[in-house]
Amino acid sequence: MKALPEITPLDEHNRRLIANVHPPDWVNPEPEGRYNLVVIGAGTAGLVATAGAAGMGAKVALVERHLMGGDCLNVGCVPSKTLIRAGHAIADVRAAAHFGIGIPDGAAVDFAAVMERVRRVRADISPHDSARRFRDEYGVDIFLGGGCFTGPDTVEVEGATLRFERAVIATGARAAVPPIPGLAEAGFLTNDTVFNLTEQPARLAVLGGGPIGCELAQAFARLGTEVTIIEMGEHFLPREDADAVEILRTAFERDGVDVRLGTVLDRVEVRGDTKVLHLTSSGSKSTLEADAILVGVGRTPNVDGLGLEAAGVRFGNRGVEVDDHLRTANPRIYAAGDVCSPYRFTHAADFMARAVVQNAFFGFAGRKKVSSLTIPWSTYTDPEIAHVGLYEHEAGKRGLEIDTFTVPMSGVDRAIADGDTEGFVKVHVRKGSGEILGATVVARHAGEMISELTTAMAGKIGLGRLAAVIHPYPTRTEAIRKAGDLYNKTRLTESRAKLLRRYFAWRRR
Ligand SMILES: Cc1cc2nc3c(=O)[nH]c(=O)nc-3n(C[C@H](O)[C@H](O)[C@H](O)COP(=O)(O)OP(=O)(O)OC[C@H]3O[C@@H](n4cnc5c(N)ncnc54)[C@H](O)[C@@H]3O)c2cc1C
Repeated sequence: MKALPEITPLDEHNRRLIANVHPPDWVNPEPEGRYNLVVIGAGTAGLVATAGAAGMGAKVALVERHLMGGDCLNVGCVPSKTLIRAGHAIADVRAAAHFGIGIPDGAAVDFAAVMERVRRVRADISPHDSARRFRDEYGVDIFLGGGCFTGPDTVEVEGATLRFERAVIATGARAAVPPIPGLAEAGFLTNDTVFNLTEQPARLAVLGGGPIGCELAQAFARLGTEVTIIEMGEHFLPREDADAVEILRTAFERDGVDVRLGTVLDRVEVRGDTKVLHLTSSGSKSTLEADAILVGVGRTPNVDGLGLEAAGVRFGNRGVEVDDHLRTANPRIYAAGDVCSPYRFTHAADFMARAVVQNAFFGFAGRKKVSSLTIPWSTYTDPEIAHVGLYEHEAGKRGLEIDTFTVPMSGVDRAIADGDTEGFVKVHVRKGSGEILGATVVARHAGEMISELTTAMAGKIGLGRLAAVIHPYPTRTEAIRKAGDLYNKTRLTESRAKLLRRYFAWRRR
């Protein structure tokens, strides 16, 4: 079996992965006369749109040029979270003494074994996104090859022409690579290649302090690599609140991640096996030596080579332009996922794809708007930072008055028992009401906890009512109930308190 570009080593796990998501012996079918739906890109957005439409009886063609499952399965969420889990394991081992447990000398990271597990987990999950499953379970015509529009209702793939009633562009995004002198010559890793590593880089420079850079930086540092994050801005994770990021900064310090903020990479030079990074920070120059450079400075939407002009689809630097119903300038063609959205998350791609199926085929029964989706997100560092809805600084800009209720994890029994007291739950409500407008959770399992607040927002359940929901003791989510208690206390106005005092005084007579 020939290795597909960027998927190495060709061991049993990667063979299993490839056999599922790009079978080497795959023969593209003969195209139907006209498809209800042609989907370009078999990442999360493409697969969900395909399954949604085909599951309801539509005839669907799905076109994928590389690996079904897209970034999430192959070079994103799945391998990164699996690697992060290994980082957690060794961090827990190192912290064992804190729990009264002595670890004999010799606890060490076997990096090759860690990466083998990453490949195994990815292969184990891959049948779900496989070409055969989509063909056999959903009756979808799978075309492996690059898809390109040749007109307003035709797509070409591997010499075949697919005619469609509706189409979805779900081609995702890729790592943006800044034009830094010497970077290409020195060689660098991106999310496309970092999970291929079998040998541990002793020193890793991570370009960019966004979610991908932060997650991988901490994981590599915990596994024993000397990691430096180089971030141009004055904050890493710039979208998140300063108090949340500050907690993570302390955690990074503990894990030995060196964070250089306000630092620009001017050029890269190669000296023997070493990459020398020339940096400028506050006007002063310095150098940093590394064995590998990981580029994580943002994402570029995959719009090139798609024939969008021929299809009459407008696009720009931010990707395919869509309206609130995810329709492009060509009313037959929709887009979903990273190629058209600033919310570059798997769950966002998933729900956009569901909206596309509804809007493309069942618009008469009501069309879904992207702006109506409540989209949470989480950065899977330790502690995790999860968020939904409005940030405090946005409220001011939008002229909204809010009240904020914050519960530190150090006041939550379960967090204390587990030794995970870093972090907080912070909930913003519309001033004078319990309507939740936004929330940030910083905690070891913040990504799990944010769902309760997302449910409350989506279901229009006020913060006061969350206080009345019985949460099992002891769990971290009690922090959310406690935020509800704090809110309810504010409902006890001085006049009500006076009335209550009088009532109890009367009962004491
Ligand atoms: C390291 C990393 C970690 C991440 N972690 C998380 C996480 O923990 N949680 C989370 O929610 N999100 C995470 N993400 C983001 C998540 O992976 C993406 O938001 C998600 O994959 C987007 O899905 P998509 O379908 O829009 O695009 P993609 O998954 O990128 O799929 C697009 C597909 O289209 C194909 N394609 C492109 N052009 C063509 C063409 N012309 N013809 C045919 N096929 C084409 C591509 O090969 C690809 O398979 C992570 C991303 C990275 C890089």
